[in-house]
Amino acid sequence: MLTIEKQLVTLNQDIAGQEIGIPVYRLFDDRQKMRKKVYVQSAVHAAEMQGSAVIYRLIEHLKTLNLAAEFVLVPNCNPFGRTQRAGEYLQGRFDATTGNNWNRFYHYDRQDAVEFVRGLTDEDFEQLNKGDETSVIKRFKSHLLTQLQNKIDRDWGVNTAQFLNTTLQEMASKADLVLDLHTGPSSTRHIYAPHNLAEQAKAFNIENIISIPTSFAGALDEASFTPWWDLAELLLERGVTFNYRVDAYTVELGSQENISLDAAEQDALGILNYLSEAGFLEGFEGVPLTPSVVTELKNYKTLFSKHAGMVEYLAKPGEKVSKGQVIARVLNSLEFDSENAITEVLAPATGTIILHYPSAAVQVGTQLFKIAISEK
Ligand SMILES: [Zn+2]
Repeated sequence: MLTIEKQLVTLNQDIAGQEIGIPVYRLFDDRQKMRKKVYVQSAVHAAEMQGSAVIYRLIEHLKTLNLAAEFVLVPNCNPFGRTQRAGEYLQGRFDATTGNNWNRFYHYDRQDAVEFVRGLTDEDFEQLNKGDETSVIKRFKSHLLTQLQNKIDRDWGVNTAQFLNTTLQEMASKADLVLDLHTGPSSTRHIYAPHNLAEQAKAFNIENIISIPTSFAGALDEASFTPWWDLAELLLERGVTFNYRVDAYTVELGSQENISLDAAEQDALGILNYLSEAGFLEGFEGVPLTPSVVTELKNYKTLFSKHAGMVEYLAKPGEKVSKGQVIARVLNSLEFDSENAITEVLAPATGTIILHYPSAAVQVGTQLFKIAISEK
């Protein structure tokens, strides 16, 4: 029978001690004893709310399907960012006090895997050589969780973003699949997939896939899969092929400060399609896939503004552009009486516009566009 548990986990408090929590939903079929786990969170960048609407849709669907895994779903997982506004908008991406990016302080230390492998016994290696990974998987997960708990408990404390990220990671570290739902600023759907899963990621039915290396730069997806690549590498040095991996993706579902329940339904169907193909649920009929393009991270480039002024974005997210095409116009009010009032911005390469800056006011160095390059 399907069980749905809801818990309010306190992460933040106001100065009067009032608790500010995050809702955590757990869905599972209580007839299953050994369950795989899927962890999904949204809006760690607090203004990126579409993922929360998607979690709502996912819960509706999961109720009607056969679950082959336990699902932990955490909408609006950032109770700090959620309460920081700048004018009419959620501050969102960065801690308003420190400037820290809320998605860059997850825990990772290669030593975690090194220490773990050092502690393995001859019997453990014997078992691994027989192809039985169960015990090592379970113990490495528990080892990683202990490192996270130690990090939060240590004498000197941690900064707010580390506290948030590490606490979320405690939940994520138990999972076999981790989905971190984000949006771009003004953006089309795209997904960051570790390179080994770039083909498999097509099941999400998202047109643009960015293939990333399995190394760590601070985000939750990387913090989830990198330790398992380390473990496999260290075991290979000891002559053992270790196959288990935690899979993790960052899924970018449109634009910030916006939700669409209709788009959320499409987003949810894509995610369910992936979950079904990866064996985490049964009874989902599937979706017709639209063709998707895989771009390596090195070919996913940012175009920084060379000019300050007011910008008109001519090329829209999702649009294909050619090298040399005018993709924006920058208007400078000091030059209205001359022919220099408008400066055209040209696409430096042929590719797909994935996102652009959300504001019409830009300065030199503003990230104007991000483009998935198809030809240089
Ligand atoms: Zn984000």
